[in-house]
Amino acid sequence: MSELIKELQGTKIAIFDLDGVIYRGTDLIPNVDKIIQRLTDLSIKIAYNSNNSTKTRQMYADHLKTFNISSKSSDFYTSASITSEEITRIKPNSNIFVIGEIGLREELKAKGHKIISSESDYSEVDFVIVGLDRNFNYNDLAIAQRCILEGKALFYATNDDATLPVKNRFLPGAGVMVKALEVCTGKKPIATFGKPQPSGIELILRENNISPKHALMFGDRLNTDIIAGNRAGVTTLLVLTGVTSSKDVEDVKKDPTNDRNLLPNMIIDNLDAIFE
Ligand SMILES: [Mg+2]
Repeated sequence: MSELIKELQGTKIAIFDLDGVIYRGTDLIPNVDKIIQRLTDLSIKIAYNSNNSTKTRQMYADHLKTFNISSKSSDFYTSASITSEEITRIKPNSNIFVIGEIGLREELKAKGHKIISSESDYSEVDFVIVGLDRNFNYNDLAIAQRCILEGKALFYATNDDATLPVKNRFLPGAGVMVKALEVCTGKKPIATFGKPQPSGIELILRENNISPKHALMFGDRLNTDIIAGNRAGVTTLLVLTGVTSSKDVEDVKKDPTNDRNLLPNMIIDNLDAIFE
C-alpha cells in the first residue's frame, strides 16, 4: 500500500477539489489525511482547486489543519485567487466593485487592487467582479448595474455554479448572483475563471512548471472539476465521495449530445483506490 497504481505512475502533481473530495463540510472524508501524507512522501506536489470564493487561502489552510493535513496558503487555488491573478494580468492596480465575500475581496486587495464601495465612485470602477455572496442584496446589485451601464466597468465572474452543496442539502451558488447582474444589465460576464474553465488548473501547472501529462485532477462534480481537468489536458479522476454517483456518469454517457469532457478518465470509490 505504498505505490501508486500503475496507471498513475509518473504523477508529479495531484490537484484536489475540496468539498466532496477532501472533506464534506466540517467532516474529513475518512483516510484522506493519510492519502495526502503518502502522496507527499512520494514527492508528489499537492494543490487544491476550489470554486468557492468566500474564504481566503489562509482560511482553507487553517481548515485543513483541523484535519491534521498540513498545507500552505499558496497550495490553494480558489476561484477568487485565480480571478485575482487573471484580472491583474488584464489591468494591474484597478478599481473594482465586488459582489462577493472576504475571500474575493482579500485576494484582489493582495494583488494591489482597490475595492470601491461607495456608489458615488461608480464612474471610476474598472471591473465589477461577481462571486458567491451570502449577503447578496438589492443595493449592491443596483451599484454593480450602474458601474456597468453608466460607468466604464467590465463584468467578470469567479464562477457560475448553480448550487453550493452544504451538509445534506444545496444552497444557491455564485451563478445566481451572476445571472441577476446579467438580467439587469443585458450583458454576460466577459469571462468566468473558476471551473469548468481550465484557467485554475493551467495556472497551477504553469506555476509548478509541470506538464499536463504528469498531473491528476480529483473531483466530485462532472460539470466543473472533470470538465476543467479534461480541458486542461490532465488525467481526471471522479471520486464518488461527493455529489456524483456512478449512475450519474452512466446517464451522461447514454446521451450522445453530452460534452465528452464531462467523462472522467477514471472513476474511484474513494482516494484509497489510487494506491496498490
Ligand atoms: Mg466538490
